[in-house]
Amino acid sequence: MKAVMKENAGAGLVLREVKEPSPAAGEVLLKVRAASICGTDVHIYNWDRWAESAVKPPRILGHEFTAEVADLGKGVVGWKKGDLVSVESHIPCLECYQCKNGFMHICDRLKIIGIDTDGGFADYVAVPQVCLWKIDSRLPLETATVLEPLGNAVHAVSAVDVAGKSAVVFGCGPTGLFVTRVLKAVGAGKIACVDINAMRLELARSCGATELFPGDATDLPDRLRAWSGGYGADVVFEMSGSKAGLTNGLSSLKKGGTLIAFGLSRQPIEVDVSNQVIMTGRKIVGIVGRLMFDTWKKMAAMIEEGRLDPRPVVTHKFRMDQIDEAMKTISQPNAKVGKVMLVP
Ligand SMILES: [Zn+2]
Ligand SMILES: [Zn+2]
Repeated sequence: MKAVMKENAGAGLVLREVKEPSPAAGEVLLKVRAASICGTDVHIYNWDRWAESAVKPPRILGHEFTAEVADLGKGVVGWKKGDLVSVESHIPCLECYQCKNGFMHICDRLKIIGIDTDGGFADYVAVPQVCLWKIDSRLPLETATVLEPLGNAVHAVSAVDVAGKSAVVFGCGPTGLFVTRVLKAVGAGKIACVDINAMRLELARSCGATELFPGDATDLPDRLRAWSGGYGADVVFEMSGSKAGLTNGLSSLKKGGTLIAFGLSRQPIEVDVSNQVIMTGRKIVGIVGRLMFDTWKKMAAMIEEGRLDPRPVVTHKFRMDQIDEAMKTISQPNAKVGKVMLVP
């Protein structure tokens, strides 16, 4: 079968002909219908310091994908060949304290598909049964493909009451754009989007942002406070992982407001906790992954009711053998690029 993999330590990815995996006990063999590229995959492609420490080549990448059940490993129950699925990328151990208390997404021995195990940038992939989420055949392919990253956004927005509230999204990469879609879907009031990339802000507008702010404006917190009626925004979603995003995010937040922290910074970020958090009664809530499987259920309902459509975020589609072109497209500075799909 064809697979996009990190063959050796170093930059780049290659398309290789490799042996089809066979499902171990408790695993399901999936025939991949389509995948999409995560920012994490770009880090692995570029082989930065984080990637070097996290990935042991050879490794087939891909943790956002939709597939069809092709075969069942020993002991798998409740699934049959031909079932259509989307895949939860977090592999929980099912035995630790977190797993046993409903927090599989922050399992103590968490593994991630496409990073710790071979992933979905391939014709076939074997994954543990616990990672499967059944989908309807009527679900558009684009939507089915991006449920994993869309789930991050549903998880983030569900962590705070946003109905009728003013919300600011810092960072309009694909997950920031998904957050904008979800905010719209759940009836947030005004939605402002912030990014240093003007083209991404244009995408944010088509995703439902009511106001756009350039991320490099020196008076950004003042402008955002003015936009929200002088008090500051009710909720801030920090999706950029930048120091500016976090500090401006806190400065733009009303007293008593909540900042949802999702964007990962590779370096520790210093925050004035005394003034920006304690004395102002603000909350910072960390969000990772998706609740397994409350978030998936909530997301499926929103899509089925026609309230949530992630497709405006999907801007490009490439074949797997065009992986270099896909990565170059994502890495272009100031380009109108949202989520990029890969099809076999
Ligand atoms: Zn990801
Ligand atoms: Zn666990």
